[in-house]
Amino acid sequence: MNKKILMIPGPVEVSPAVTEAFSVAPPSHLAPQVLEAFGASLEMMRQVWRASADSQPFILAGSGTLFMDSAAANLVAPGDTVVVVETGYFSQRTAEILRRLQARVIIVEAAPGQVPSREELTLALERGGDVRAVFATHVDTSTGVRVDPAVITAVAEAHGALTVFDGVCATGAEDFAMEALGADVYYTGSQKALGLPAGLALAVVSPRALARRRQLPHPPPIYVDWESWLPIMHAYEARKPSYFATPATNHILALEVGLREILDDTLNGLHGVEARWARHQRVATALRAAWSLLGLQLISHASCTARTLSAIRYPEGRDATLVSAIGERGVVVAGGLYPTLKDTYFRVGHMGYATTQSPMLEQTVRAVGEALFGEGASQTEAALQALAQGL
Ligand code: PMP
Repeated sequence: MNKKILMIPGPVEVSPAVTEAFSVAPPSHLAPQVLEAFGASLEMMRQVWRASADSQPFILAGSGTLFMDSAAANLVAPGDTVVVVETGYFSQRTAEILRRLQARVIIVEAAPGQVPSREELTLALERGGDVRAVFATHVDTSTGVRVDPAVITAVAEAHGALTVFDGVCATGAEDFAMEALGADVYYTGSQKALGLPAGLALAVVSPRALARRRQLPHPPPIYVDWESWLPIMHAYEARKPSYFATPATNHILALEVGLREILDDTLNGLHGVEARWARHQRVATALRAAWSLLGLQLISHASCTARTLSAIRYPEGRDATLVSAIGERGVVVAGGLYPTLKDTYFRVGHMGYATTQSPMLEQTVRAVGEALFGEGASQTEAALQALAQGL
């Protein structure tokens, strides 16, 4: 294989069918196949998000950060109190977005690699008074930490606050049944566990959150305003042409194929999003067993470790040159991202298509093992065996 495999926490490897759907001459946003792909994608998003029939999916051209801005700007007015559950780099970005909207931002933080407790969150909401919304990062890609959404929605609900979850490194891989949780906004970017090229920001929004947007004293900037997009999303779902701002048409064609694969992956015998969640968990557990046999440790605490990536400490005496050594063996992994720790660890993404491709996972474990110990080491063979057993 000449091409290196992409095992960073996004963008990720995509399936041949997704590449094929994407790689066509650019269609018009009003072309019948785009109307159909857009409408079908909106419908399938409710299934992938496990969201209610009256929830509203949005598909915007942009990266995940676009919906971070959009969620905040549609819910929060200057002077509103909001709580941010801080688990890493991306929750710090959320807090900055909220500060720029002149919100009063209360941070509930935990040591890197950990999540704040239910008690700490409850205390923050009690002290905060009238809290408009709680913002949390489902999986923080800088630390590999996963929050428990059910704890956050329960505490927020008890205090009458809305909940917003950043699912950029989680949606389609980590358990998240939006309706059952009672969550208000769950957004992601296309380049992660949905298994698509980068370029789309996707979200599902509850009726309660849409109602809050209508009560805002001033409308948000026009591109991120849900009210700008509602008629467009309704029209596409009815397979009718409409225009507000040009959608990323090739991405939409790929999205339909990608979402269909998530809901019905006949090639790999996975049916329904729950099967996809379970597959990601199995792969993560198998990789953890392999890391452990290579003598590696994660920076995330075992009780809150995500299944979409591994944030791995450099072993004693090793540093970021390990990332290049792994790259030389055909596997692209990422360096650290959490500001105060970034030189002490590296990250391996395991989401989307690669989780159904054992050879890619084997190549990844082999590349890490050989970068650490050279060729033919017993540790690498043991790690590969543990991986094979776990898959
Ligand atoms: N939130 C999380 C958890 C992420 O992992 C990322 C991207 N790594 C973002 C937000 C921002 O997404 P994007 O880079 O697509 O703007």
